[in-house]
Parts: sequence; C-alpha cells; structure tokens
Amino acid sequence: TTIRGFGELFGSGMITDTEDIKKYGSRIQQESQRLLFLINDIIRLSELDENNEVVTSSVNLMDTARETAEILSEKAKNADVNIIFEGDKNLCCMCNESYIRELFTNLIDNSIKYNKKGGYVKVSVNFRDGKNVITVKDNGIGIPESDTERIFERFFRVDKSRSKATGGTGLGLAIVKHITQLHDAKLEISSEEGKGTEIIVTFKD
Ligand code: ADP
Repeated sequence: TTIRGFGELFGSGMITDTEDIKKYGSRIQQESQRLLFLINDIIRLSELDENNEVVTSSVNLMDTARETAEILSEKAKNADVNIIFEGDKNLCCMCNESYIRELFTNLIDNSIKYNKKGGYVKVSVNFRDGKNVITVKDNGIGIPESDTERIFERFFRVDKSRSKATGGTGLGLAIVKHITQLHDAKLEISSEEGKGTEIIVTFKD
C-alpha cells in the first residue's frame, strides 16, 4: 500500500519539493526491500515444505557459524553488538550445510536485531551427552514469557513496530523450526524479558 500510494503521488507529479522526493523515495526503497525479504522468506518456507529429504554431509559447525557471522558483522557493528564464539572448533555434524548456514543466519541476525547497545551474541557449538548442540544466546531485549510458546509460528512477532523497523518478516524462526524438523533435531528456547534469549538446537545422536 505504501509503495503504491507513494508511486501514485510521484506519478501524478504532486511531489516536487526536493526534500519530499528524497523522503518518499527512501520510503519506497525501504518498503520494497521489506517486500523482497518477505517474498524470499515465503519462497524459502514453501521450498522447505516440499523438501522432506535432506542431503547431508559432515559440516564443521564452528567454521559455518563464523562464516555466517562474518556476513552479519557490519550489521552487528552498527548495532554495537559483539559476536562471541565458544566451544569445540573441530566439531562436525552430519547435516545439510546450506540449511545450517540459514539457521545460524536467522538466529544470529535476531540476536543482533533484538539487542541493546553494547550487548553480545554468544554462539556455542558443543558435543554434549553424545549429541551435537548449537546454542545462540544474547543479552538483548528478551521475549515475554507468554509469547515464547508462539515465537516459532509463521508471522508471529512480539512487537510489530520494532520488527517492522528492523526489517523483520516474522518468518525467520518458522524457517529455523522447519530446518530443525528436517534434521530431527530438538529446538528449545529460554528467554527473559529485558535480560536476553537463548535458543538451543540439539541434533539427534
Ligand atoms: P522477525 O523477522 O520479525 O525477526 P522471526 O520469526 O525471526 O521474525 O522472530 C519472531 C519474533 O520473535 C520477532 O519479531 C521478535 O519479536 C522475537 N524474537 C526473535 N528472536 C529474538 C531474540 N533473540 N530476542 C528477542 N526477541 C526475539
């Protein structure tokens, strides 16, 4: 609606002031970017819906986590959020590499977006009780207890205005949930409002 509305205004020649052109032009740019993210996430989810067979290979979890975080490093820097890594740097897991990259991307991205200045994101990969475990923990804004149950639902967002401002689609965690299901992995969340969030993915033996 925003894109169409501003597009119509431009088309009618009613916007002539240079400042207005800049302002409305940048709104169109922002909104079209959001639309693109949304379309990509919807396509991603429908691909995951159709794909029940996962091609796996031995994937080094720490390397994958670091490479993913590298792509998000500029965003983390701008948000003044520090990304820390912990755990076994040689840990390998039989999984689908591109899906695991996507899982790390969505979790680390959220931990940056829903954080505070000076906050951290701690990414850990460990072998615990015979299982590979990925943990992404932050000391950001956290999630109210009443919402943690619904957080993996499609389009669910705690704070719609904040999500919109950060370019969220409400589909990131639904994609994470889907990826863990395809790997028969367990997905757990623990969060406290104002204190932070921890998401744990435990692969099967
Ligand atoms: P979005 O695109 O809105 O980020 P997600 O599916 O990734 O969608 O997340 C759903 C909602 O869960 C977010 O809108 C946000 O309210 C909340 N959320 C997700 N991760 C975190 C986190 N690490 N800290 C606080 N809130 C989070």
